[in-house]
Amino acid sequence: MPSNATGLPYDRVWNFSAGPSALPVSVLEEVQRDLLNYKGTGMSVMEMSHRSKVYDNIINGAEATLRRVLKVPDNYAIIFMQGGGTGEFAASYLNLFACKSVRDKQRKLGRPLTCDYLVTGSWSKGGLKEVKRLGGITNVVVDGVKSAESGAVSYHCLAPVSEWNLGKPEETAFVYYCENETIHGVETPSSLVVDAVDPSVPVICDMSSNMLSRPIDIKRFGAIIAGAQKNMGPAGVTLVIVRKDLLEREDPDTDAVRGVPSVLDWKYYASAG
Ligand code: PMP
Repeated sequence: MPSNATGLPYDRVWNFSAGPSALPVSVLEEVQRDLLNYKGTGMSVMEMSHRSKVYDNIINGAEATLRRVLKVPDNYAIIFMQGGGTGEFAASYLNLFACKSVRDKQRKLGRPLTCDYLVTGSWSKGGLKEVKRLGGITNVVVDGVKSAESGAVSYHCLAPVSEWNLGKPEETAFVYYCENETIHGVETPSSLVVDAVDPSVPVICDMSSNMLSRPIDIKRFGAIIAGAQKNMGPAGVTLVIVRKDLLEREDPDTDAVRGVPSVLDWKYYASAG
């Protein structure tokens, strides 16, 4: 196996990119081998039907591995989607507002529920913007750190919980945050958020760039979303881990469900497998 000045096989470089990350050589070699003939099927995974038994086994195997590695409880669905982290900004909002418990709460309140956002950098800001774009009502729980002199917002640390402006539980659909802001580098420890939020309010977390870097107490979350390309694999796959009760709908024909396109519908993916 040739190696260059970096000491890596195949003239590969040290890739510290915060974007798509390096994959282990053993994985790439396996993919290379399987590309011409995946396990005796006579074709690669790129050429076979995504509805075939062989492909089912691949996706079910990936789900089982993730469930084991992350200790995902049985009352959580693991879903593989497309659309990247950005697709999930919209999906989080649309799915939560289609879910029975959120709709019940909204009916009781008699007006639209609010979506709470911790804005700690550009990706959570992107999530907030997407909800506004879809007509949602948002509340900014924390917006970076304002400089005392200029009043300008910068994203270099997290304001203390005592300064957070969480909405009232009975008025809030969900609380959203990004655990690791890939561009600004601000990491928000999950324990701070899940301890601060009333347990009746689902916490939605974007873990695109720290997924699988440490154990997660999954049961404290309503849903976890993550684009695969940072920590898990190539771009194009998006992971969602969602508590199954949040997939409950009143009636498949209600307007709420009609408001969620199938490609962003967590329930549709969870039931289709
Ligand atoms: N969230 C985080 C934390 C990210 O780093 C990124 C960038 N990949 C996104 C969301 C957006 O993901 P995507 O590029 O897959 O749309």
